[in-house]
Amino acid sequence: MCFDVQVRRVQLLSGNFQRITFAGSCLAEFGVQGQTHDLRIKVVVPSVSDDGQQIPLPEFDCSDTSWYRNWLQLDAAVRGSMRTYTVRAARCSGAEPEIDVDFVLHFDEEGKGGPASSWAAAAQPGDRVSIIGPNAAHCVTAESYGGIEWRPGMARHILLAGDETAVPAITAILESLPADITGHALLEVPAAADELPVSTESSVKVTWLPRGGRPHGELLDAAVRSAVVLPGWASVEGAPVPPRPQIDDVNVDETILWDTPQRLTAAAVQATPNPHTPAGALPFYAWIAGEAAVVRGLRRYLVTEAGIDRKQVAFMGYWRSGRAEA
Ligand SMILES: Cc1cc2nc3c(=O)[nH]c(=O)nc-3n(C[C@H](O)[C@H](O)[C@H](O)COP(=O)(O)OP(=O)(O)OC[C@H]3O[C@@H](n4cnc5c(N)ncnc54)[C@H](O)[C@@H]3O)c2cc1C
Repeated sequence: MCFDVQVRRVQLLSGNFQRITFAGSCLAEFGVQGQTHDLRIKVVVPSVSDDGQQIPLPEFDCSDTSWYRNWLQLDAAVRGSMRTYTVRAARCSGAEPEIDVDFVLHFDEEGKGGPASSWAAAAQPGDRVSIIGPNAAHCVTAESYGGIEWRPGMARHILLAGDETAVPAITAILESLPADITGHALLEVPAAADELPVSTESSVKVTWLPRGGRPHGELLDAAVRSAVVLPGWASVEGAPVPPRPQIDDVNVDETILWDTPQRLTAAAVQATPNPHTPAGALPFYAWIAGEAAVVRGLRRYLVTEAGIDRKQVAFMGYWRSGRAEA
């Protein structure tokens, strides 16, 4: 469903995170039943003309179910840019429904950002965007909406790992965890000043990894490897090595890396080491998101080296270095 909303508040959380609170009476219908976890939405931000002026978004009839088809048919120069974001928090049941989205303010060496980060950096109360997200009335449970990938099943020990684009999702997930959950949350961010407050009742150990100019993903990769160690056989010289599970090595330049348990094909499930164990029945679950090449490296490590059952891990390329979101 499409929601026509306005910016209510803008809050600079740190050097690289800008929280934007969106409001609009239509948001009374927004949401899922239960926690939002890593709920993703699409945000349509206005295009910018050659002379740097925002082109107001076309008026949409959000109640029209063919809204998206109509939007695609508009001139690309004026229809705005659609990007994917996470709902950091939703407060839609009160008289003034609103949602928070935490935008990473990313800019290259020349100071150029993508349409969404540039829009977010300059956003002012009253600015208008369109959001595509779930209609609570049609999402009987959180799981019935395809925009939530967090599905730990019966796991009580977890790994959450991601870069700054995954911080909104990981911090929202941490807030929802009960006290008996253990594990690690590893968050790589541009700088120490980007370490945001985290609230969780769980026993998950939260570790911030400020990059400080190191290559993207270097710290995250090392931290995941030390949090999930290789099985014993892999470190004993001369020990018989059991056959390693095969995974298709996704070409992240050509396709989106999105390998989450509920989207595995029947064939892929059969190819996992434990084909008869239903997804969600094992005690460990991992959720990994961030730059696609970094996530691909972690996927290779966790599945083929550490031997983690693919049905127990969600791997999500949230963005690809050097590529605008298609
Ligand atoms: C499910 C999901 C949830 C997401 N949640 C969030 C969220 O809550 N907050 C958030 O900030 N992002 C989030 N992202 C990532 C966001 O969609 C991308 O970063 C997106 O590319 C930003 O759009 P843009 O218009 O700013 O840049 P684009 O036009 O898409 O890209 C322009 C250039 O910027 C580069 N780029 C894009 N993102 C980054 C980055 N983070 N750091 C450095 N360079 C970058 C691209 O490689 C490209 O070269 C999420 C993505 C997914 C798939």
